[in-house]
Amino acid sequence: MVPLAGLEPALLAEIDFESIASTNFTTGAPACERCLAQPDETRKLETGHIRPYIRDVTSGDSTMPSYRAPIRDTRFVIEQLLDIGRYSTLPGFDGITPDLLEAVLGEGARFCEEILFPINADGDRVGCTRHPDGSVTTPPGAREAYARFVEAGWPTLAAPADHGGQGMPHVVSTAFQEYLTSANMGFSLYPELTLGAINAIMATGSEAQKALYVPNMSTGKWSGTMNLTEAHCGTDLGLIRTRATPNADGSYAITGTKIFISSGEHDLTENIIHLVLAKIAGAPDNVKGISLFIVPKILVNSDGSLGARNAVSCGALEEKMGLHGSATCVMNYDGATGWLVGEENKGLAAMFVMMNAARLGVGLQGLGIAEVAYQNAVAYARERRQGRALTGPADPAAPADPIIVHPDVRRMLMDARALIEGSRALCLWTALQDDLSRHAATPEERAQAADLVALMTPVVKGNVTDFGYSIATDMQQVFGGHGYIREWGVEQYVRDARIPMIYEGTNGIQAMDLVGRKLPAQGGRAARLWFGMVAADIATAKADPKTASIAEALEKSLGQLQAATMWLMQNGMANPDNAGAAAYPYMRCAGLVALGWMWLRTAQVAVAGLAAGDGDPAFLEAKLVTARHFTGRLLPRTSALRREIEAGAEPVMALPAEAF
Ligand SMILES: Cc1cc2nc3c(=O)[nH]c(=O)nc-3n(C[C@H](O)[C@H](O)[C@H](O)COP(=O)(O)OP(=O)(O)OC[C@H]3O[C@@H](n4cnc5c(N)ncnc54)[C@H](O)[C@@H]3O)c2cc1C
Repeated sequence: MVPLAGLEPALLAEIDFESIASTNFTTGAPACERCLAQPDETRKLETGHIRPYIRDVTSGDSTMPSYRAPIRDTRFVIEQLLDIGRYSTLPGFDGITPDLLEAVLGEGARFCEEILFPINADGDRVGCTRHPDGSVTTPPGAREAYARFVEAGWPTLAAPADHGGQGMPHVVSTAFQEYLTSANMGFSLYPELTLGAINAIMATGSEAQKALYVPNMSTGKWSGTMNLTEAHCGTDLGLIRTRATPNADGSYAITGTKIFISSGEHDLTENIIHLVLAKIAGAPDNVKGISLFIVPKILVNSDGSLGARNAVSCGALEEKMGLHGSATCVMNYDGATGWLVGEENKGLAAMFVMMNAARLGVGLQGLGIAEVAYQNAVAYARERRQGRALTGPADPAAPADPIIVHPDVRRMLMDARALIEGSRALCLWTALQDDLSRHAATPEERAQAADLVALMTPVVKGNVTDFGYSIATDMQQVFGGHGYIREWGVEQYVRDARIPMIYEGTNGIQAMDLVGRKLPAQGGRAARLWFGMVAADIATAKADPKTASIAEALEKSLGQLQAATMWLMQNGMANPDNAGAAAYPYMRCAGLVALGWMWLRTAQVAVAGLAAGDGDPAFLEAKLVTARHFTGRLLPRTSALRREIEAGAEPVMALPAEAF
């Protein structure tokens, strides 16, 4: 019960208790008789009836939470910033016209807003259920939504064209993936894991395996999983204990227990194709002895029909902080039949094909959650009235001003906006590089794009998921105490936003990947290429007075990052702990420069659009304002990060472990 004791009698008199009490605003279910039965003066509202009261003392009447896919910004990035039309002669890009983009994004947005978003809160509240026979049911509405998802052909969007998919460019499917996550992150994991499994089979599987499994996974009839983690190992996969024993017919018997397996068991698809890491008897007992296996939940006959149930089962569902709509399972393999994918002992490399694409997808999760949290915080900040603007009443006729007038609330909203729009540009740019790494016209262009994707993958995953969580908590802060209360929905975003920083390799491991592998690869080729691209854009933008100040700010930050890179090269080799201690701030520094670069390019496009009278001037002006906010308030953090990097390992490693 939520008591309303202590309220002004005048306010109490204004509350329409009849209508409040006749609707349960959490579930939409009718009437709470107990509320109606109480006298007005002493009435206490039950949880679920409090929201209309809060709205009553604010100025608006919208219900919350809500979500509208940011189609205009997506199209701005794809069509103007990335200029996708330039690639129309490349394979896979020929049909990507503005009309097609509008149709795909428009229909995708409608599906996410109307079908997936309305079941998101229930997915969180009810979660998944495991039954005594090991079967798992997904939250209310998920099965129906998934059936419509499949019927509408959404799983095929990114799936390979020669195996039942549409083979759309990654840049287009990435845009849709953002909408999916914003609308319902728990649901989004089922198709996302399937796509990762398809990618791994396509990259390393035999032609027979591709033909047997991929078409039904592409259409969404079957789903996929990735099984790496065991109770004693997540990061250090060399410790894996799951065993594969050769059978006489060429298959293997897989025995072991995996934990934390997303979509391990559920009721959405008729079969689940597990990709499992295991060691073949006699293989080295480290990362060099790991192999990858296909282990279907239901065995698939050679003609594609379903056969017997395999010896794999869900032993338990993990109880989680958030992401309740996604079934996270303990999976038991009891001599289950599996088939080797790719070569023996090369499983980790095969799995990394899947992980790299998945890491970009997880970065997008940070973006998706941040976007929906931001939209709701903006709506709330416009409605909620507290205090007066520092410069004098903004709405003198009302008892208080909307909180959006307060600079501290604006700070949170502007930071979020700048990070979200910058991250969207960076995610879509990276997805485009992924497309170009396969489809660009020349081998040199393909190699350059591949270098950029490799370099940017840990930058995107590590930074955008960190932003996602910090934005979700800032947006919760905009709601004040109401952000901590479940019925407003924003606290779910905080809980859901936490996991992308952890899975697919923690953000600490992303930082180590960037510093230890991606930076030094091929003598620093990718970093040199990227620094050169940023410097070239800075030089052009400095020559235009309208973008010069943004370019100069970015130039300073690029200088900080380059100096930090030099310091790492000189000091990381001498003492590896220097590299380990510097990795995280280095990743953050690279992320700010990457976003600063996106904002510089955005500003250039906006200036050109305004000069040509091309596009909505208010939208383009807002881009320039946000670019200046990013470069003025967020980008300067690179100086502090450089100092943190150059402090070296000593401050973090000086205390002996026993002293903690
Ligand atoms: C909801 C959820 C869904 C998941 N889905 C899947 C899935 O579908 N499939 C799957 O296989 N796994 C899945 N995971 C597992 C997830 O990928 C792991 O939890 C994650 O990779 C971290 O592994 P760990 O939990 O064992 O942590 P640990 O490896 O024990 O790490 C603990 C801490 O130590 C740090 N650390 C470890 N080693 C190093 C090092 N060498 N250098 C610096 N720091 C280090 C880590 O960064 C972390 O901060 C899921 C997890 C969750 C919670």
